[in-house]
Amino acid sequence: MRTNCPNCGATETPELFYEHLNLPIHSCLLVATVDEAVNFPTGDLRLAYCRFCGFIWNVDFQPELMRYSAAYEETQVFSAHFREFQSALVNRWVDRYGLRNRQVLEIGCGKGDFLLELCERGHNIGLGIDPSYRPDRHEPKALQRAVFATELYNEAHTDQKCDFICCRHTLEHICDVREFMKLVQRHTDGAGHAIVAFELPDVERVLTEQAFWDIYYEHCSYFSLGSLGRLFRSINLEILDLYKEFDEQYLIVEAQPAKATPRPHAAEEALEQLASTVQEFKSSITSRLDHWNRYVREHHAAGRRVAVWGSGSKAVAFLNRLDLRKEVAAVIDINPHKHGKFLAGTGHQIVSPQSLRTDRPDVVIAMNPAYLQEIRNDLLQMDIHASVVAL
Ligand SMILES: [Zn+2]
Repeated sequence: MRTNCPNCGATETPELFYEHLNLPIHSCLLVATVDEAVNFPTGDLRLAYCRFCGFIWNVDFQPELMRYSAAYEETQVFSAHFREFQSALVNRWVDRYGLRNRQVLEIGCGKGDFLLELCERGHNIGLGIDPSYRPDRHEPKALQRAVFATELYNEAHTDQKCDFICCRHTLEHICDVREFMKLVQRHTDGAGHAIVAFELPDVERVLTEQAFWDIYYEHCSYFSLGSLGRLFRSINLEILDLYKEFDEQYLIVEAQPAKATPRPHAAEEALEQLASTVQEFKSSITSRLDHWNRYVREHHAAGRRVAVWGSGSKAVAFLNRLDLRKEVAAVIDINPHKHGKFLAGTGHQIVSPQSLRTDRPDVVIAMNPAYLQEIRNDLLQMDIHASVVAL
């Protein structure tokens, strides 16, 4: 059990406040057979809260169990709403930091879509680092501006000269966050004061909404604006901006090596505020779990077909936490690379939206409210008038 705080190093035994035992260790790996899916390796999750820095982490996380590879399907670019958000972020960073004809590096670049857009938009040269990168997802022409390293970010990369280092939806998968950020800090310092920009989920929203579907094994580290700001400052990075994006679901921090002791950013919430949010989560999570459990099981018992829209980590956490199996008739995804594959744990097969034309649902649960309008439109185009709700 990792009880020392990985963010600030505090050694006092932390408060444990949520657990989900025996959950699939991966939620985005494509699983080829139902057997493999229901026998998927599991691990335990117990969340701890550090009262000194506000950091939240899974004390039972075992990093050696993780297998990130090309079979890891994390991309969200098949959604128009997500693509718009990504393009707006590219434009903002290019304009704000003058990223034109520069060298840009992305840690945890996934399939490389964001990095390629950043290179295209500012005529930049890119390096992407990610063990799950796949060269077959893009036309050769699109790849002229970037090279990719199919491995985890490590010490050897810190010699790489660059003007801008971005890292999106990766830090929450890393358990030794402080050690990782020290590596990034040395890199940016050595690279001549490169700008650093990180994007990751906001734990404050997860706690406030008791969003248990956003708590899963791969995410071993959970940040708020405050704990993220405190981490960056503690390793001598000066925060240029700190804010929330994508319907307030994501945190973004932009920083550079500090010349003097970094000062707190105005967006960092007070420790007491996060502490009380954790207590509220603790007292209301059971009723939230009961609500969704009853919702799905009562519809199923009444003979209605319930479909879940979205087959990513939220679906894996939602279905496994509530142990929903036959009660959910279909799991839908718009990403064609996922069709025919199976969901770790519950073993649901992932199907296309078009399959709903024949197996018509009565109730559709959207795994992310940000895509609600997009899902409603898709259903209407197929003349499906199911009731659509979002988590
Ligand atoms: Zn701490």
